[in-house]
Amino acid sequence: MTNRINKILTEGKTGSRQTVNGWVRTRRDTGSFSFLEINDGSCLANLQVIAEGTLPNYSEEIKKLSAGCAVTVSGDLKESPAKGQAVELHADSIIVVGWADPEEYPLQKKRHSFEFLREISHLRPRTNALGAVSRVRSRLSWGVHNYFQQRDFFQIHTPVITTSDCEGAGEMFTVTTEKVEKSGADAAAQVKEFFGKSAGLTVSGQLQAEVYALALGDVYTFGPTFRAEKSHTSRHLSEFWMIEPEMAFCDLEKNMQIAEEMLKYLLSDVLENCREDMQLFHKFIEKGLIDKLQSVIDDDFGHISYTEAIEVLLKAEKQFEYPVSWGIDLQAEHERYLTEEVYKRPLFVTDYPSSIKPFYMRLNDDGKTVAAMDLLVPGIGEIVGGSQREERYDVLYSRMLEAGIDVEQYGWYLDLRKFGSVPHSGFGLGFERLVQYVTGMANIREVIPFPRTPGSAPC
Ligand code: ATP
Ligand code: MN
Repeated sequence: MTNRINKILTEGKTGSRQTVNGWVRTRRDTGSFSFLEINDGSCLANLQVIAEGTLPNYSEEIKKLSAGCAVTVSGDLKESPAKGQAVELHADSIIVVGWADPEEYPLQKKRHSFEFLREISHLRPRTNALGAVSRVRSRLSWGVHNYFQQRDFFQIHTPVITTSDCEGAGEMFTVTTEKVEKSGADAAAQVKEFFGKSAGLTVSGQLQAEVYALALGDVYTFGPTFRAEKSHTSRHLSEFWMIEPEMAFCDLEKNMQIAEEMLKYLLSDVLENCREDMQLFHKFIEKGLIDKLQSVIDDDFGHISYTEAIEVLLKAEKQFEYPVSWGIDLQAEHERYLTEEVYKRPLFVTDYPSSIKPFYMRLNDDGKTVAAMDLLVPGIGEIVGGSQREERYDVLYSRMLEAGIDVEQYGWYLDLRKFGSVPHSGFGLGFERLVQYVTGMANIREVIPFPRTPGSAPC
């Protein structure tokens, strides 16, 4: 029976027969036999294989195995006398499935920089760190669905191609089949050719999720999102994934409770189910990571209003590059100061000025601020952005006019406020920022398999 290495190492009985498929990490010859370290991607650990010199293909093939070669190994599982592993596989057959020329294979035993590994995004998942990121990412994705499904949220597949271009979340990529000229009325006409109106790749599924929240109650979308901004930071991608719950009969307070509970659930789930990979990050990527995440799970998140936050920033000893005054959009330096130096834990900032937030956020009674919340975390900054939505027809209508939005085109969105409107709320959690937070990886390009950023989209 073919088994995955994670199963063999955790459940394999000594004396059992095992067959594994995997890739050679290292080969070491000693006297009459060789040690092979085999990795199959199922876990961080390698399986140690003992290849005796008596194997029929020993000198012809096994002694030529090098990093990257694919093999199928069969043999008996035995207790390992050496330190570092409990069991090892004594091979009676090693089939070389695919060779990897050691002169050409770029992954050598030494540690490679993440920058170098980005240049070989087709091979980097074979490294310890990127393999671990991939497994943790998969578990987090599963955890997101688990969290919502256990709470009777329904997943909604919102469109990737969208015609709502007013969400205000960011610059959109245009979708068209035509070769478009750079400017002019002709260009605009060409873009409209396929759908009869201009279309783009979605920047958020929120507006469509609202439609379903007002029919199904609690819903979420979890899908790819695109932003055409030329941001060259370690926190921005042109294509990323976003988790967007939308809840009917829900105010800002409950919205924040769900965000906090969900984040804590995901952190606990990963600490429990990805122990070995998390140990790697804890030791080599961000020292003390596991303890940090555990205290995030154990402690309450902080809460501060935008107005209070501005007061704190104005009193700060620190010189900020971007001057602080009521009404500014908080910059990364401000956000990081608040969460890293003042609160030293995740922090909700609420009630931002309406002038810096999109039209759909609910206007507060002061007439100046909206029921918005951003969740800031140390090391990253904004990880969640959310709000209570404006459910009052008249208020929404005038906010749309102010924002210069074509109310005709958004008749459907206004209808939701005409027919059975209810207070409702939701947020967007950037999935890659979450994976960064959980793994401690400094650059967002390391936590998505194939990063797309301005000027770069390999494979
Ligand atoms: P930022 O201010 O960091 O650019 P934003 O306020 O534009 O983010 P939102 O529109 O509020 O972002 O999107 C919700 C969440 O999606 C953010 O809190 C963040 O976690 C994530 N996110 C936004 N833009 C990006 C991006 N370009 N790459 C990766 N994640 C992103
Ligand atoms: Mn935001």
